[in-house]
Amino acid sequence: MAKMNEEKTWKCGKCNEELKKKKTLFEYMGHKFSHEVPTCPKCGKVFISKELAEGRMAEVEEQLEDK
Ligand SMILES: [Zn+2]
Repeated sequence: MAKMNEEKTWKCGKCNEELKKKKTLFEYMGHKFSHEVPTCPKCGKVFISKELAEGRMAEVEEQLEDK
């Protein structure tokens, strides 16, 4: 039996709705970038993972330092 990729499903704690990945535009330190983040289809709450916060935001900081 093939094992499926274990994909973590996130749920909104408030609505108990399964989160859907949605492209969201972020602004951080004057830089804009879009990233697919889990979003609640009901209340629109966006869940930012630690990975995104540390990965993309650090990237933006690096870009700023290059200039
Ligand atoms: Zn919700």
